[in-house]
Amino acid sequence: MDYWKNYAGIFLKEEDLEMAKLMRGFVEKEIMPIRHLIDDDKDHVLINKIMQGLTSIGMHKGPFPSKYGGMGASSVVTSAVLHEELSRGDSGICTAFNVTAWSFFPAILGKNKKVLDTFAPLFCSDDLKLGCFAMTEPGGFHGGGGCDIENPSMHGKKIRTTARLDGNEWVINGQKMWTSNSGVADLYCVLCTTDFEQGDDGIALIYVPADAKGLSFGKWEHKAGMEADVNSPMYLEDVRVPGEYRAAGPGKDAEILHLNVMLARINTAASVLGNAQATFEAVLKYTGERIVADRPIRDHSIAAGMLADMAIGIDTARHAYLMAAYMVDHPEKYGPPVSDFIMSKASIAKVYAADVAVMVTNRAMELMGAYGYARDYNVEKYWRDSKIVQLWEGGAQLGRFDVCRGYYDCNL
Ligand SMILES: Cc1cc2nc3c(=O)[nH]c(=O)nc-3n(C[C@H](O)[C@H](O)[C@H](O)COP(=O)(O)OP(=O)(O)OC[C@H]3O[C@@H](n4cnc5c(N)ncnc54)[C@H](O)[C@@H]3O)c2cc1C
Repeated sequence: MDYWKNYAGIFLKEEDLEMAKLMRGFVEKEIMPIRHLIDDDKDHVLINKIMQGLTSIGMHKGPFPSKYGGMGASSVVTSAVLHEELSRGDSGICTAFNVTAWSFFPAILGKNKKVLDTFAPLFCSDDLKLGCFAMTEPGGFHGGGGCDIENPSMHGKKIRTTARLDGNEWVINGQKMWTSNSGVADLYCVLCTTDFEQGDDGIALIYVPADAKGLSFGKWEHKAGMEADVNSPMYLEDVRVPGEYRAAGPGKDAEILHLNVMLARINTAASVLGNAQATFEAVLKYTGERIVADRPIRDHSIAAGMLADMAIGIDTARHAYLMAAYMVDHPEKYGPPVSDFIMSKASIAKVYAADVAVMVTNRAMELMGAYGYARDYNVEKYWRDSKIVQLWEGGAQLGRFDVCRGYYDCNL
């Protein structure tokens, strides 16, 4: 916890320290003692109780405008710090809980009064409500999986979920895959195309309530980790919603999409670092207590070197995501947030933090021997949870292309 103080007055304000402390207190009490049970909580009794608890302390209100009961918060630094703290407990819960705000950013940034008036008061209430931001599609011979859809070089040409205006209603048809909270959300922000030949102008972010006719879901995917985050295939067949449910309009929706991908890269960098931090705490303790060859494991130089590498990775990855978040918060100094430069910084943070977390969790298991592999010590859980962060949000490869775009014209 003390490490946040090192950033006070540089990246973090007094309010950030307070928020981090509040989240730390919640996680210590409500998640740490039961974190080994979360991935087996098939009916989501524990998971929903924890998310309702986060709602009760107001953690869901951050970005919503105050007139709807929200906090009107826009600091990316604050959001990132809270992601790290929550994921130190469980990153599946962090994902499921925070995807809701992510799904509302298009309406908030697009100042969409109709969507906000209709849904924001409900989402700012004290009852848990979930949102979903649905980009990824199953893909096919045209390409069009998760990366092609997020790839700015593709200009929306791979999206196959279509939206057609019929009078003042959108009629949506298509399929989405892997989207967080899919099947359990109350509201979906669905990435569509009005005409994929039109490139960015065809990109449309359209809100679909869970009870819309023609919206259905397949079975929950069974994954290596992050069971708190529900992912099920989503089917849209002639789904009709009001014309005003499009977030902002031609061109603007594409810009918001890229902004949302960039913000998710920073927040998931922070989130996966929560996995690494929790693991580091566990391995430091364990290797300080367990004796091999007459001394604690961590007092053997081979182990100390591995622990040092973990600390180096965690510290530098934290600097990277805080710097990227700070840059987004200060456009007067670093330019607009939708730029190759900022996307490059956000992608550096995400790609590096994910690699660090996978390395830390992997090495920690080595240092803990069989106990690292056992559920009781939780390290295997963070190992399972951190792997997905290398794969999602554009994967390790597209993430690296987006890094390159900040340095040269990399049109891949
Ligand atoms: C737990 C979980 C939660 C998720 N949550 C969401 C969500 O909330 N919303 C959402 O929309 N999606 C979500 N996803 C989907 C996720 O973002 C995608 O899985 C991810 O973007 C990768 O897409 P893909 O799996 O289709 O892989 P593909 O796009 O098929 O990529 C496969 C491989 O190709 C590489 N690759 C990609 N582009 C290039 C290129 N140009 N050149 C060379 N190699 C390339 C990739 O790095 C990867 O190695 C989630 C996935 C999971 C597992």
